[in-house]
Amino acid sequence: MRKDVRILLVGEPKVGKTSLIMSLVSEEFPDVVPYKAEEITIPADVTPERVPTHIVDYSEAEQTDEQLYQEISKANVICIVYSVNNKKSIEKVTSHWIPLINDRTDKDSRVPLILVGNKSDLVEHSSMETILPIMNKYTEIETCVECSAKNLKNISELFYYAQKAVLHPTGPLYCPDQKEMKAACVRALTRIFKVSDLDNDGILNDNELNFFQRTCFNTPLPPQALEDVKNVVRKNTTDGVCVDGLTLKGFLFLHTLFIQRGRHETTWAVLRRFGYDDDLELHQDYLFPLLKIPPDCSTELNHNASLFLQGVFDKHDKDRDCALSPEELKDLFDVFPYMPWGPDVNNTVCTNEHGWITYQGFLSQWTLTTYLDVQRCLEYLGYLGYSIIAEQESQASAITVTREKSLDLQKKQTQRSVFLCKVFGGPGSGKSGLLQSLLGHNLMHQKMIREEHKSYYAISTAHVYGQEKYLLLHEVFPDFDYLSESDLSCDVVCLIYDVSNPCSFEYCAQIFKQYFVDSRVPCMLVAAKADLPEVRQQFSPSPLDFCRTYRLPPPQSFTCNTASTPSKDIFIKLATMATYPHMSQVDLKSSSVWLRVSLGAAVFAVLGFTMYRLLLKPR
Ligand code: GDP
Ligand code: MG
Repeated sequence: MRKDVRILLVGEPKVGKTSLIMSLVSEEFPDVVPYKAEEITIPADVTPERVPTHIVDYSEAEQTDEQLYQEISKANVICIVYSVNNKKSIEKVTSHWIPLINDRTDKDSRVPLILVGNKSDLVEHSSMETILPIMNKYTEIETCVECSAKNLKNISELFYYAQKAVLHPTGPLYCPDQKEMKAACVRALTRIFKVSDLDNDGILNDNELNFFQRTCFNTPLPPQALEDVKNVVRKNTTDGVCVDGLTLKGFLFLHTLFIQRGRHETTWAVLRRFGYDDDLELHQDYLFPLLKIPPDCSTELNHNASLFLQGVFDKHDKDRDCALSPEELKDLFDVFPYMPWGPDVNNTVCTNEHGWITYQGFLSQWTLTTYLDVQRCLEYLGYLGYSIIAEQESQASAITVTREKSLDLQKKQTQRSVFLCKVFGGPGSGKSGLLQSLLGHNLMHQKMIREEHKSYYAISTAHVYGQEKYLLLHEVFPDFDYLSESDLSCDVVCLIYDVSNPCSFEYCAQIFKQYFVDSRVPCMLVAAKADLPEVRQQFSPSPLDFCRTYRLPPPQSFTCNTASTPSKDIFIKLATMATYPHMSQVDLKSSSVWLRVSLGAAVFAVLGFTMYRLLLKPR
């Protein structure tokens, strides 16, 4: 909403502009007034809409045309004053003032006008008959009002209407010609309806209406008022009320009614609460609340966010099969201006037997977005109305920013629950096979994935000593000249070669030597396609000797060519290395590290695996 409002009064000499201003300020009619009142500023706390308001007078006797034009361009709203007992001053409204103002303002951003008939104390009849045709002709006229500076009639109303015309313009909401709401307004209100329809049954029941009322206006709706509202809608529409709740049609009707009755500030209050700006776009401040992410930190969804997303999932999983069918997913994203997830998402996260995203998969994809592109995550949560439904300040409260990784390494422990693993390997070495195996897909399944639906990411959970962690695999395209720091930054590296291809290990060795030999990131060599006969690698040393030389764990055999789902062991190992990087890279000289980690019996599960390196390390 605007920070202040500038009201300009124009009109023929002697119609009472200066008197109107003076009457407002002193609350009595001044017998003698100057040609032009000084500009006055009404402080925010004494105006009805609580914004500072500047009131500016004009006098032909004291000001040049140039000065007038300048004031017109500065004004947020212009009151054209005429005198109800002076026909000529009314004629001048259309013959002079409206064209003069319109010539000086943009067609698309016309300044709102208010027609003010002053000196109503002098006549018995009203000027409305003459004024209404003018109002109908010029849509930029917000409203008209008859008043009297002399007996103080409608003076504060006049300035209130002027303020309202600026703060709550009808222009973006309503088309007076068609007598209906504009498309953008209907679109925004439809999204608001969908977000507020907590159980997604297409009806706002009493609970939902009360919640809505409380969020938008901070007060509960008395039961009688609720009934009254429904009765009005029932009377005027065929299916605006259904099972004692408001349908979308009824909701839209209600807002049309508000606007038609000049109560559009109500509709604006609702729109603004749900993040819309004056152009009925979602405000950037709403979509992208400030969230500081220091370097070396990552972003994860917190408990608040998981609860909210669980609610969103349940609301749209109408058949309660714990997965979102394409229709259910489409319905979920109906409150977005575009479809955020492509078909590749179904190959990035866990799905059910129909290939539909499961609850687990749904949370995984959100976790992925939060980790890789937190701004996008904030934006998406904004579309879903997170701050409103979860009753939080903004989407920022859905995000945990982890501490610096360097600190984790120093303290040898981490609170993180999402770890990124970059998967390197030459063409055809089995990278995609590994990614798909994380989702439980064997080779047979992978062969059915269409090329254009392929994903270079896969994310799922893996348990590390009984704790659930997210492992996010990223397949790195092998055809590059140079990898930047951000290409390389991750929590664990996986280097894949194909045991049946004698040339494939060389790529892994090169990548390791070029980028990871001195890094603190743990690396694991994976001997893929272990179901095929192993051939000797052309590159020397052999993979096993290479691992010994560089103190890497020995190559891990892996195959996705299995009858059922491929083994998850490798992912547990990767997740464990990512969670405890110090165990694989630094200071394993003394066994005290093991005591400090003190994780009980579970340690033995990976002990064999890490022990190997312990033994290799020179004392
Ligand atoms: P301006 O030139 O438009 O600023 O008009 P003024 O404020 O100077 O008023 C012109 C004359 O109209 C003055 O003599 C005022 O006293 C008189 N006047 C202003 N408002 C009213 C009103 O509401 N009723 C009556 N009867 N006279 C008014
Ligand atoms: Mg004057």
